[in-house]
Amino acid sequence: MKKLRVLDIVECTTVDGPGFRTSIYMAGCRHRCLGCHNPESWNELAGEEYTVEELMLVIQSDPISHVTLSGGDPLLQAETCAELCRRIKSETDKSVWCYTGYVWEDIIAQANPHVMSLLHHIDVLVDGPFVLAQRDVELLFRGSSNQRLIDVQKTLVSGRVEEWHR
Ligand code: SF4
Repeated sequence: MKKLRVLDIVECTTVDGPGFRTSIYMAGCRHRCLGCHNPESWNELAGEEYTVEELMLVIQSDPISHVTLSGGDPLLQAETCAELCRRIKSETDKSVWCYTGYVWEDIIAQANPHVMSLLHHIDVLVDGPFVLAQRDVELLFRGSSNQRLIDVQKTLVSGRVEEWHR
């Protein structure tokens, strides 16, 4: 099994989704958004490698925190992220959120099998690039108003984007 290249792991954070969360920042991003909060994450070789097992140990060491994959863009490592999320959903009762700079409709149109597998194991996808002109500090869990909090499982069933609400 491939390893995941991880830039950082932040435990007990409250800014990347509801409740306490273990946020895993994946290395590598090709969107290069103007005003990116984390340009050091663009380098696909930054950070350190972790096995899925090693990340599961970090995740399971905190009984109350849910999980968020951020970056960087986790979709660049979709195959191994899918395996990580499959294990989280089958071995814990934690919710999984994932941030990406790609837009939902483009992701579905591309139908990459690893990305589709990842989608089947996450609860909410925060989609789209950060757009500086649409920046809004009042928004919940996202930086610009083009980005959506997508309830992935509902959306896969209905075939149209269903936004997540508390
Ligand atoms: S998608 Fe996110 S990490 Fe990537 S360049 Fe845009 S803001 Fe930065």
